[in-house]
Amino acid sequence: MIKTKPFAQKMTMKKLEKEKKTIGIMIRIFCGAHHRTARKLLCPACTELLDYVKERLNKCPYGANKGACSKCKIHCYKPGKRKQITEVMRYSGPKMARKHPLLAIDHLLRLKASGRSKTI
Ligand SMILES: [Zn+2]
Repeated sequence: MIKTKPFAQKMTMKKLEKEKKTIGIMIRIFCGAHHRTARKLLCPACTELLDYVKERLNKCPYGANKGACSKCKIHCYKPGKRKQITEVMRYSGPKMARKHPLLAIDHLLRLKASGRSKTI
């Protein structure tokens, strides 16, 4: 039997907040380059995408054990949104590594780790 400790819950929160922050930066980089939006702003389409991603993260059933979304078996994204976020990650991923190395490296490491580990 597994007890859920408050500590684990805190870790989940932290992890999800970090993930939201990372994806927020990625969408901002993408939006600035593709939709010519002013710095620190998002166009309506990208705002909607970010809201959608945050909502999916909040509802992620894996919680603290969550790996990278791209390696996840659930595929909780709608096909249209999935395509959008894939484009964002493909474009912003390499740029993230230069602007925010720590966040990007963490993200990449998790991609690798979740590919090997088995869930359940
Ligand atoms: Zn945009």
